[in-house]
Amino acid sequence: MNPLLKVENLQVSFPWKNKSIKAVDGVSFEVSHKKIIALVGESGSGKSVTALSIMGLIAYEGGRVEGGEILFDGQEILKMKEKRLSRIRGKDIAMIYQDPITSLNPGISVGEQIRESLLIHKIASRKESKQIALNLMREVEIPDADRRYGNLPASFSGGMRQRIMIAMALSCQPRLLIADEPTTSLDVSLQADIMNTLQEMKNRMGMSILLITHDLGLVAQYADNVVVMYCGKVMEESPVDMLFEEPLHPYTVGLINCIPRIDTTQEQLFSIPGYVPSIYDYPLGCRFHNRCSKAKPICREKMPDIININDARKVRCWLYQ
Ligand code: SF4
Repeated sequence: MNPLLKVENLQVSFPWKNKSIKAVDGVSFEVSHKKIIALVGESGSGKSVTALSIMGLIAYEGGRVEGGEILFDGQEILKMKEKRLSRIRGKDIAMIYQDPITSLNPGISVGEQIRESLLIHKIASRKESKQIALNLMREVEIPDADRRYGNLPASFSGGMRQRIMIAMALSCQPRLLIADEPTTSLDVSLQADIMNTLQEMKNRMGMSILLITHDLGLVAQYADNVVVMYCGKVMEESPVDMLFEEPLHPYTVGLINCIPRIDTTQEQLFSIPGYVPSIYDYPLGCRFHNRCSKAKPICREKMPDIININDARKVRCWLYQ
């Protein structure tokens, strides 16, 4: 079966002075039907730029897709006219963002905001849409949904606002949900609640999720496949169990070592030494070499290609070439 989403050699740039700065540099991956694929990496790795490109929104952020393909259910998104794309966006592909307070309209009640998408995409009549919006509020576990339908976003807690964002995103029963750091601003118990809600809704609606996160703990628990990004490039791609059993790329090893563990008496939390290089000045060779304890002379000179290790795994590192 063809994947629901196929991103092939995606290249996205931002203008800077008289130059063009590449934020996403030849990224390829697939999202299969009914699966959760995690895009993982530190800030500046290109995860969110990739997501906005899939949504066809990167131009609004000042970016430009320079090359590559994004196929959604076999249709090339990058060549679509805005009118056609806007019919897909919100309906077939929906997105939830990290910060619900800036994503929700502060002056419109939450119920009406959930209802709006149903009306825009002509999913339901005005009368039906109110009932659907109320049902969605109940499904994402907003307590006392009937009474709170008319409340403004500011009267809800951070966790509840994120649930409202989820209800909005799921209102048209999308086939692909892009969840960009959906739990970052929440405490640990709320994170689990929100992720469980997302997983439950995914199973019920049969949708796929592209989960964008820097939190490998979440990935271990919820994702099927993982794509590890660093400085605009895919460094490793693997099914989740194999990745945690035997991470291949030194960056992935570092990320996994950063996960706090309760079964050891670690006195200090591990962190990957050094800094992510500036997007304005990526080093020659492997972009991770200034932080890699396994770097060899060739790592400073030439970027390794991404290669298949087996049918399921890929890695970009000179240690495997
Ligand atoms: Fe480290 Fe070299 Fe592999 Fe880059 S290519 S991750 S520097 S060993």
